[in-house]
This record gives sequence, structure tokens and C-alpha cells, in this order.
Amino acid sequence: MKIAVDVDEVLASLIDAVLKYYNNLNGTCFAREDFKSYNWWDVLGREKEEVVSMYYDFWKSPYSEDINPVRGSLFGIDSLSRKNKIISVTSRQFDFITQTKRWIEQHYYNKIQEVYFTNELSNNKSGSFTKSEICLREGVDLLIDDHVRHAVDCAEHGIDVLIMNSPWNRNFEDTDKIKRVYLWEDVVSRIC
Ligand SMILES: [Mg+2]
Repeated sequence: MKIAVDVDEVLASLIDAVLKYYNNLNGTCFAREDFKSYNWWDVLGREKEEVVSMYYDFWKSPYSEDINPVRGSLFGIDSLSRKNKIISVTSRQFDFITQTKRWIEQHYYNKIQEVYFTNELSNNKSGSFTKSEICLREGVDLLIDDHVRHAVDCAEHGIDVLIMNSPWNRNFEDTDKIKRVYLWEDVVSRIC
């Protein structure tokens, strides 16, 4: 089976690292649990452009060197990669291809065969893709993601989805094609 794995909040605890940066800069105390939506600008009460610009600044800061793997993901990818082909599909921008690929190689060495970028919310006008476009092109059977929009997009295009339980997707109910998982151990036990 070919499995596409999202990066942020499925492999990488991005939001924790960004919040350390943001809270330190602004004297705030936002926490992961505050993110009932993954539209960061809504949670932080800022303009979308302002938050995208902050995100680009985060990547220039030392805080971006401190992104930890999601708990269980090292074991999960190791287990899945034994019998399946694993790729990553992320909505990160093309501007962060180098850092993203380096981080994935560092933590999941040789287990994830390629990383594809949708380039949403880019600062430059270099075009973007949907996750379903990439997954269909790459012949993906199953997507593991935390974002409802990507889950629904891919499910509507016939791809099965495991949605990783998170504060921002808790109101979403399972469908025929989209099933909630709580831990990486759940992912592995469903697939292996
Ligand atoms: Mg994600």
C-alpha cells in the first residue's frame, strides 16, 4: 500500500515550537489546546497576512531548530515502512523544502521516500496544489492527516483517510472514508 503522511502535527509538533516562539515574542501564553481551529489567525486574533509573516520569521529563528517528532511517530513510521511505501505530503511552502527534507531525513532516515509540498499560504506567487491532486498523481491509497479540509478533499477523491485526533478536528465525525485515530499505535494496529 502507498501511504501519504502529513508532516505538521502528524510527524512534527510544529505548533508547540511556533507557540514557544510566538509567546516569547508577544508575552502571551497560548497553548495547543486553544487551537479549536487550525486557522492560527483566528486563534491568535491577528490578520492572516500578519500570521503568515510571523511564520516566515519563525523559520529564520532558532526556535525552528527545536521541532520535535510527534509522540509515537518514529515507531509508527518504522512499522509502516516495513510493508508499505511511505511518502509525505505537506501544506508547507516551497520556501521550506530544504529545512523540511532535512528534518525528515534526520528523524525518519530512509523510511519516507519523498516529500511533496502543496505550497499553500506562500509569500510568493509560485502556485499551489491540493493534497488530493498530489495524492492522486502519486497513486496514494491512504492519507494520514490532522486537518479536516485535507481529509475531506482526499476522501471525496476516493482516498481513505486516518485523521489524527487534535483539538482543531474534535467536532468532526467519522465517515466511510475518514476514521479517527488517537495515537500512532492506533495507526499501526489498523494498518499492519
Ligand atoms: Mg497537519
